[in-house]
Amino acid sequence: MPTYVRTDKCDGCKDEDKVYCMYICPHDLMLLDKDGSKTGHAMKALNQEPEQCWECYACVKACPKQAIECRHYADVVPLGASVQPLRKTDSIIWSIKFRNGNTKRFQFPVRTTPEGSADPYGGEPEANMDELADHGTLFTKSTHDCDLDQFIES
Ligand code: SF4
Ligand code: SF4
Repeated sequence: MPTYVRTDKCDGCKDEDKVYCMYICPHDLMLLDKDGSKTGHAMKALNQEPEQCWECYACVKACPKQAIECRHYADVVPLGASVQPLRKTDSIIWSIKFRNGNTKRFQFPVRTTPEGSADPYGGEPEANMDELADHGTLFTKSTHDCDLDQFIES
């Protein structure tokens, strides 16, 4: 089921370096209605084609104002219940609100490196770019050639 924007929370990312929902949507569905001509709400975002939404939650997680929510299938999240994430720099907190009003929160780590950084080789030797043309020496092939004994506890 598609996402929708809470106009009471959305501020159009006016203090951000980008409009996060537009930036992140893999299907290019989110749009900032700058002059309000599409929705009657200037500087508020909208999901311009809800029927095309992948329900991937990327925009829900990326929105810095927690202004995007998702309409769920009733058999998964019944009326009155909700599932809402809060993304932090190193973890994500899922708030699960049940139909009876109870709320549970679950926090999970989401990174192994500081936000904005990556460790592409993860301790493995760097790829030899000269070997890329040779399909027999793909980078991932090295896992087949490694000494498996090093992973076996004695
Ligand atoms: S919905 Fe969130 S990410 Fe999109 S413009 Fe509004 S505040 Fe920014
Ligand atoms: S849930 Fe995914 S596909 Fe749907 S509007 Fe958000 S980012 Fe785009």
